[in-house]
Amino acid sequence: MTLPQNNWFTEIDETTGTALSLRLGEHVHGEDTPIQRIDIYRTDTFGYLMTIDGCTMVSTRDNFLYHEMMAHPVLNAHAAPKRVAIIGGGDCGTLNEVLKHPEVESAIQIEIDERVTRLAEQYFPELCARNDDPRAELFFGDGLAWMRDAEPGSVDVVIVDSTDPVGPAEGLFGPKFYGDVFRALGKDGLLVHQSESPLLHQQLIVAMHRAMREAGFAQTHLLHFPQPIYPSGWWSASLGCKRPLTAEERLDERAIAALETQYYNAATHRAAFALPNYLREQLDAL
Ligand code: SAM
Repeated sequence: MTLPQNNWFTEIDETTGTALSLRLGEHVHGEDTPIQRIDIYRTDTFGYLMTIDGCTMVSTRDNFLYHEMMAHPVLNAHAAPKRVAIIGGGDCGTLNEVLKHPEVESAIQIEIDERVTRLAEQYFPELCARNDDPRAELFFGDGLAWMRDAEPGSVDVVIVDSTDPVGPAEGLFGPKFYGDVFRALGKDGLLVHQSESPLLHQQLIVAMHRAMREAGFAQTHLLHFPQPIYPSGWWSASLGCKRPLTAEERLDERAIAALETQYYNAATHRAAFALPNYLREQLDAL
């Protein structure tokens, strides 16, 4: 297969005037699924790289940052996270982290494109290591429809590990979807949704928090953490709480210490919730 020019993969983001490049060894797979274009590259220094529609999704080397921060802060903030639903997340990395929590009784991953999961099994087997856990269920279908049809109060934690707000993921960022999530969650329910770069995508972050509050969430928080292969190298997730949580409730140090993780610990948990002034001002104004 051919390599992009000069052996470099470059994701250009015209809107923000930025680009990210990784030096490649080989283009190992490319296909157009009914949903999207998926490519897999072997890079020189980041292991395998999966892209969807030309956007970086996951690399062997740095995915632990994102997957740990999508799963552990929200699960540790819930007193009894027994029933977990992951929307998107087809590479199974978030599911793998969720299943590290013994208190989780069931975790369903609702991914619209089965090919993402099948390719992850082939090129990122370490992310799929817990797929055979009896608590795990892989469901292939649209997360919007799944959430619309979910039984009220049937889930404790919803994790939206989606692509950017375009194409099939667009509706996942809207008030209608957050309303469906609110209804599907139990009374102490928590939602977390990847919310792009805290530097480049401030408008989106503010709009997501506004939409979550309009949907009924009593409190929203922003988490932030490094993610080298995403635009700006700095990423975020937004948390919606059905009832307000104290800082103490959000931090269960004993549970955190018991987890086997590379990035996540009590200090990075606290740091993730610490807001830069410019973001605090915008979110406080809501
Ligand atoms: N970590 C990545 C990021 O922040 O860009 C996301 C990775 S994960 C592979 C995103 C997944 O969301 C993709 O596999 C995509 O197929 C899936 N997805 C997009 N829209 C969806 C929808 N409406 N329902 C379920 N899955 C969806």
